[in-house]
Amino acid sequence: MKKQIKVGNVIIGNPNHIPIQSMTNTKTKNIDETVSLIKRLTDAGCEIIRVAVVDLEDAQAIKEIKKLISIPIVADIHYDYRLAIASIEAGADKIRINPGNIPQTEDLYKVIDKAKEYNIPIRIGFNSGSIDDITSNKHKLDELEKTISKYVKLFEERDFTNLCISVKMTDPLLTIEANRLCNKLFNYPLHIGLTEAGNHISGTIRSSYVLGTLLAEGIGDTIRVSLTADPVKEIEVAKEILKIHGLYKGITLISCPTCGRCNYDMMKIVDEMYPHIMKIDKELTVAIMGCSVNGPGEAKDADLGIAGGKNEALLFKKGKPIRKIPQDQIITELLNEINEY
Ligand code: SF4
Repeated sequence: MKKQIKVGNVIIGNPNHIPIQSMTNTKTKNIDETVSLIKRLTDAGCEIIRVAVVDLEDAQAIKEIKKLISIPIVADIHYDYRLAIASIEAGADKIRINPGNIPQTEDLYKVIDKAKEYNIPIRIGFNSGSIDDITSNKHKLDELEKTISKYVKLFEERDFTNLCISVKMTDPLLTIEANRLCNKLFNYPLHIGLTEAGNHISGTIRSSYVLGTLLAEGIGDTIRVSLTADPVKEIEVAKEILKIHGLYKGITLISCPTCGRCNYDMMKIVDEMYPHIMKIDKELTVAIMGCSVNGPGEAKDADLGIAGGKNEALLFKKGKPIRKIPQDQIITELLNEINEY
């Protein structure tokens, strides 16, 4: 059983609940924009938000941002230990530091002592940057083990164990191996993800492969999908990955690829429905199918769904036809049916 840590009111290390995280891509000091994005992310299901702290103004903005949001906030610090201290004093619920750029010095001890004083956890976020010049993966893993073990020991010797660890690489296979290694080495919760994952297509596929493999092995206590896209997409992808592993209760939308038998604008309906159903807290499978000839049968395992006709759709439940819905009422009617189910 992993150690549990608390980030604000969110527990990391509960095997039955993997909190979803994201990171803002606004300037943190631009409080209005940052809060507006955090609210959108919270609405989408984000449970912990990280912000970049690049100067004192960013650190101090955390105090104001915290008053306006409802989820815990993590300050992401590189290089300057004073920003970590300022962020903690401004009310950050956790800080993330990188062993590669806040090395073992008295400065690090000051950060540890401040986190202890405010009783907040620290994520040691290791990434591939510091071992990029090593060519073989075996040597990279050896180097990782040495570096991260040494760094963790510094915290433990300072009597600080309120830790979370992450190892994110650009190479998906190496990231999987590195997390397996950390899972074996440490009892601390693991934040899993892939760094520089790519856009909404490549990043989704690469992240799903890594996170899916690790979660299937019971590795990972909190996840962040990194995408070069609207951060809300990161939450949607994270939810889909967790749903497959039974770690997120929500609606699974299934839909056929369509073929020559489809006579309605099904893609538009799927695109319009998806954001709505992602917000509904129900464990259901909903099917949107192209034709009523094969659709209900092909999706008979779905709890409910629609299959297209000409300017209308057939509502079905567990493969059984219920009633017809005119084209212009499909979205509203299907959402009503889901809510009433
Ligand atoms: S449900 Fe109908 S439209 Fe969709 S793929 Fe099957 S046959 Fe084609």
